[in-house]
Amino acid sequence: MIRSRKTLVICMVLACALSTRDVDAQLLFPKRSPNSDTTVRIFPKYVSKYDLMTDVDLLHCRYLGSLTEGNRVEDWPVVGKLASLGVRAFNAKTVADMLNQRFPIRDQAAFADIQKTVDECAGILEIDAPHVFIDPTAELNAYVTGVKAPYYMVINQRLYSLYKDKPEEFRFIVGHELGHLKCNHIRAHVVAHVFLNAILGDDAEHGFKEKYIAPFLVYELLYWHRASELSCDRAGLLCVGASDKNPEHAQKVAEQALTRLLHGTHNDVDVDKYLEVVTDFEVNEPFVAVIRKLQGISKTHPFVPERLRQLRQWAQRGNYKTLLTRVAEKPVQRKLVIRSISIKGLPDTDYGFGKSTKCDPIVVASYADREYKSGAFTNDSNPSLGNLAWEFDFTENGRLILEVLDYDTTTGNELVGAGLLQFAVNESKTEGELRLDVQQQSTEVNLPAIEVSYEVK
Ligand SMILES: [Zn+2]
Repeated sequence: MIRSRKTLVICMVLACALSTRDVDAQLLFPKRSPNSDTTVRIFPKYVSKYDLMTDVDLLHCRYLGSLTEGNRVEDWPVVGKLASLGVRAFNAKTVADMLNQRFPIRDQAAFADIQKTVDECAGILEIDAPHVFIDPTAELNAYVTGVKAPYYMVINQRLYSLYKDKPEEFRFIVGHELGHLKCNHIRAHVVAHVFLNAILGDDAEHGFKEKYIAPFLVYELLYWHRASELSCDRAGLLCVGASDKNPEHAQKVAEQALTRLLHGTHNDVDVDKYLEVVTDFEVNEPFVAVIRKLQGISKTHPFVPERLRQLRQWAQRGNYKTLLTRVAEKPVQRKLVIRSISIKGLPDTDYGFGKSTKCDPIVVASYADREYKSGAFTNDSNPSLGNLAWEFDFTENGRLILEVLDYDTTTGNELVGAGLLQFAVNESKTEGELRLDVQQQSTEVNLPAIEVSYEVK
């Protein structure tokens, strides 16, 4: 898979970045059973990326996305920092050569089933359908790639053969891949892989920074990558479509599709029994559980049992069911107006002359692709912003990312922490914590507290 150093980055970007074992669906493939015409499939309308993205995914995408502004890859700050590596990776001709080794399905009657599935699922997620190519390699894989529109979806022939007679499952796979486009993962995935390659490449010069910073960065990037896969399993589930007769049908289809990636056969399996076996090992064989966990942290994709459990949780306890009721006409666009923000208990952040000093906070609020920023406070652990009129388009399931930066003219502003806040139509106040890490809920007990007053109108 990896041929030479020169193509390493490209291989990683194309093969892993979006890849994995992801996958698809059915409306396009009418059922042959006598009852098929009486089953109605429900697809939600106006799906936004906030409906799909996990918290971790949302936060990381913001950080990585800011490194990839603009349409010229060579101008991306991250690529500039990594010198020629990134430019070479995205050399247009090389990408074109890669694409020439695959078969474009457009206007091919033989692959009309794929095109139809992709077009329908793209319609459900309200994105432009990517160009689709079949790849002759035997790896069980599908992925989307490209650094700007038009994007490309590559489906390996083995995956297509395996799911050809399982149109609903194929729909889950396609929906998952399109989820990466919907959530704007592509650029962040590319950055992640450029970083990973620069850090892990055998002939890279390893300086102090790489040696000591790299392990953290690698695991952080991989952690996010796995979170982004969970978001996209949700997109896959939505694209299967809920049955009006059997509320669990779509979930069962998705679970068969995911487990098929493991056994690679045309058989349908008992997913509950499979999960029981995994749980048995986890409970009774602690070493197996630990090793599984350690193996997991170096992967771009969560293992299948984890994906099954997470998807089940979202389908049963997350906002999946609420989304399915969103089939009426688009409601009037509401506005979210932030009136005040107060933060209490910021930690000291400057360490000059042997003693720490207070943070000089700048508050940044971003929501629904819009951002507001305060001026810098001086030496203030409890900044308070009043009389605000920060206005955003209210988005169901939207989360405000509130960041605090420490103002610093010498080394540049540094991120102190970030919090995610949710808003409800009939309420006017929300609270959260400023987390100093985004990987997991911090074990610190005295995290800075955020309080926001707002209005939805
Ligand atoms: Zn994926």
